[in-house]
Amino acid sequence: MTVADTGDLPANQSDLHRFAFTDALTGLGNKYRLREKLRQLIMERASDPAPFTVGIANLDGFKPINDLFGPSAGDQILCQVAHRLKACIPDGATVVRYEGDEFALLLPLVFERRSAEKMGSMLKEVLSAPYDLGERNVRLSASFGFAIHPFAGAEFEDLLKSAETALYRSKRRGRGQITVYSTEMAEQMKRATQIEQALRNAIIADDVDVHFQPIVSLKDDSVLGFEALARWQDKDLGFVSPAVFVPLAEERGFIDSLSETLLRKAAEAALSWPKELFLSFNLSSAQLLDPATAFNILAVINRTGLDLRRLELEITETAVMSDPETADKIISELRAAGVRISLDDFGTGQSSLSRLCDFRFDKVKIDRAFVSRMLTDSASEHIVKAIVTMCHGLELTVVAEGIEDFAEALKLKGLGCDMGQGYFYGKPAPARATLDYISQRYDGEDGVERRRVSGD
Ligand code: C2E
Ligand code: CA
Ligand code: CA
Repeated sequence: MTVADTGDLPANQSDLHRFAFTDALTGLGNKYRLREKLRQLIMERASDPAPFTVGIANLDGFKPINDLFGPSAGDQILCQVAHRLKACIPDGATVVRYEGDEFALLLPLVFERRSAEKMGSMLKEVLSAPYDLGERNVRLSASFGFAIHPFAGAEFEDLLKSAETALYRSKRRGRGQITVYSTEMAEQMKRATQIEQALRNAIIADDVDVHFQPIVSLKDDSVLGFEALARWQDKDLGFVSPAVFVPLAEERGFIDSLSETLLRKAAEAALSWPKELFLSFNLSSAQLLDPATAFNILAVINRTGLDLRRLELEITETAVMSDPETADKIISELRAAGVRISLDDFGTGQSSLSRLCDFRFDKVKIDRAFVSRMLTDSASEHIVKAIVTMCHGLELTVVAEGIEDFAEALKLKGLGCDMGQGYFYGKPAPARATLDYISQRYDGEDGVERRRVSGD
C-alpha cells in the first residue's frame, strides 16, 4: 500500500537537498518538491498514461488575519492548515506549500472533474473548522482550483497555470468556491487574451470612446448632469461591452491607463457643457485598492481644467468593502478636493448598511434591477421606498437608474426620488449628440433651461 506523501524526503537525502525541497515554516514540501513528484508520476505512467489532477487551495481572507493579529498568528494558521491537509489527503497524494497562503496537491487517482470537485468539497470542509490561536479561535474558508492532466497541460508549468486560472475563477465567484479547469475556460482565456491585445492597442491609438447618459431631476425633468460610459468598437471583434472590457483591464493590470484616457475624454467633453451640469464618472473596484488613485484623478482633471466641483465619481459597495481602509482614504482625499461620491448599483452588494454609514457619500444610485421590477413586484417597490427614506434621513441624494418608461418615472416621482436616469430620459450618446441634447434643453442666448418632459 502506498502512503500519503506529505512532501517529506527520505532520510538518506542530503541536508542541502532536503532544505531546497522543504518549506521551512510548515515542514511540507515546496513547489520544487511538487515539480519533482509530478515529473516522477508522468515518467511512471509513460507506458500506460492515465489522467491525474493537480489542485491549489488558497485561504480566503488570510491577509486581514495577518494585519489584524500579527504575522505569528498567520504562521500558526498556515501550520494548522498544513497539518490538516497532510492528515486528510488520500494515499499516494502529495501536498506542498506552494507559496504564501497557497497549498498545492498532486492527486494521482483523481481522473475527472466530478471526483476533483468531490475532493475539493472534502478539503474545504476540513479547512473550514475553527483555527486555534491560543486566546481566540478564527474561522477561514478556502477556494480551490483543479487542473486535470494531460488535458489542462502536459508539463508542470502549464498544469499549474491552469489550476491557477481555475482558482482565480473560484475567487471571482466569492469565498469557498471550487473550480475545475475546462475546455470552455480555455476558450474564454483565449478570447480574453485577444480582447486584451486589441484593447491595449486601442488605448494607445486613442480609439476607446466615451458616451454620455443624462441624469435628470425628477422634480421637473431638467438635466442636471451626465454619466460617462466607456464605448469601444474593434475592427475585428466588433462592439465589446464595457461590462466585459473594464473588468478585463482590471484583471490584466492596465485599468489605470484605460481609466485615465476615459476620464480625460469625458472631462474635455464636459468643458463645453453649461457650467452647472455635472460629470459622473465610474471608478473600477481595482482603483479603490490603489492609494495613488485620488492623486491620479485629481491630476487628470486639473490638466483638463474642469472644475473639480463638477465631478462625481461612482463607486460600488463591493469595491468599497474589499479594502475599506484604502477606499476610505481615497474617498476622503477626493471629497476634500471638492469631488462628490456616488454609491453605484446600490442594493446589489453584500455589505451591511451600518458599514456603509461609516463612509461619506453624497449620492446613492438605486440599481436598475429594483427599478425595472418595481411596478410588477411589490417587494422591489418596498425596497425602493425604503432606500429613498433611508437616504433622505442620511441627507443623501437618491438617483434611480434604468428608468425605461413614463410609468416608472411617475412612480419614482411619487416616492420622492430626487434624480432619474435611463432610456426614457436618454440613451448614452456620443459627445457631439450630447451637445445637441443639451442645446435642445437650453436656450442658447440666456442660458435658461426650457424644462421639457422628455422621453423622445
Ligand atoms: P453602470 O455604471 O451601472 O452603468 C449603467 C449601465 O446601464 C450602462 O451600461 C447603461 O448603458 C445602462 N443603462 C442605462 N439606462 C438604462 C435603461 O434604461 N435600461 C437598460 N436596460 N440599461 C440602461 P453599459 O454602458 O453597458 O455599462 C455597463 C457597466 O460597465 C457600467 O454599469 C459600469 O459598471 C461599467 N462601465 C462603463 N463605463 C465605464 C467606465 O468608464 N469606467 C468604469 N470603471 N466602468 C465603466
Ligand atoms: Ca455607474
Ligand atoms: Ca449602476
